[in-house]
Amino acid sequence: MKFVIRDDDLNYFSKPADIERWYADIFSKNIPVGFSTIPFVKPVSDVYTAGAVAEEKEYPIHENEELIAYVKGNPLIEILQHGTTHETSGGYEYAHDVPIDEAKRGRDELERAFGHPVSIFVPPHDWIGTSGVYAVEAAGMDIIRGRGAGLRNWILRPRFILNFFRMLVFKSWHFLCGNVPAYPYVLNFGAHKEATSYRLEDPDVFDGLAYVHKKKGVFVVVTHLHFFTDEKKEQLMRLIRKGQEYGAEFVAPSKLFA
Ligand SMILES: [Zn+2]
Repeated sequence: MKFVIRDDDLNYFSKPADIERWYADIFSKNIPVGFSTIPFVKPVSDVYTAGAVAEEKEYPIHENEELIAYVKGNPLIEILQHGTTHETSGGYEYAHDVPIDEAKRGRDELERAFGHPVSIFVPPHDWIGTSGVYAVEAAGMDIIRGRGAGLRNWILRPRFILNFFRMLVFKSWHFLCGNVPAYPYVLNFGAHKEATSYRLEDPDVFDGLAYVHKKKGVFVVVTHLHFFTDEKKEQLMRLIRKGQEYGAEFVAPSKLFA
């Protein structure tokens, strides 16, 4: 079983101390963490922006030199792309019409800033519409999302149709059994792949880990750096210990798609 930690909403306003505070002990166990990073955060959003006035302005991540230097010096951090601006006015950013080059615009900013290829896209609020999928495919990236993979987009392509029915059967069967886990394997849609994830707060997150262990699949847990509490951190550590008991391999997110 592969075990991945995905922490969301890193942006221009984040500080290295925010990461160190919650992850120093995890890094000391040699466990990698994927940070879903917002390339051009807008303070008119529902993410952490350190109390900045809510305005339309974009804050490019490369201007936070302290954060860039810290990430470049930590080989256990992988940068994922989290939307382009994460703005929420007019709905979730990637849920509706997205210009075809919008994902690439964000990806280019992250690669320029961190000096490293970025190959995974995480939609804000785990929500992506079909035009968003096309934009991510145009940028040549794979997707980590919530449990909606396979059923929420409809593209007339054989692999999409195959996965649609695969997920329909999977969800119907588990619905009849009383609980629908996240799909435990990577789905291949032809022009991109998708992995599904649990939130740390999900009531069935430990059941999900046990299920993935049984299925020898991939387990992704989502955390939020700027909204950690001692209780949430303890929950994450319990999950890591359980993963270790199961003999999980703790990997950077891009290893899911390798
Ligand atoms: Zn987010």
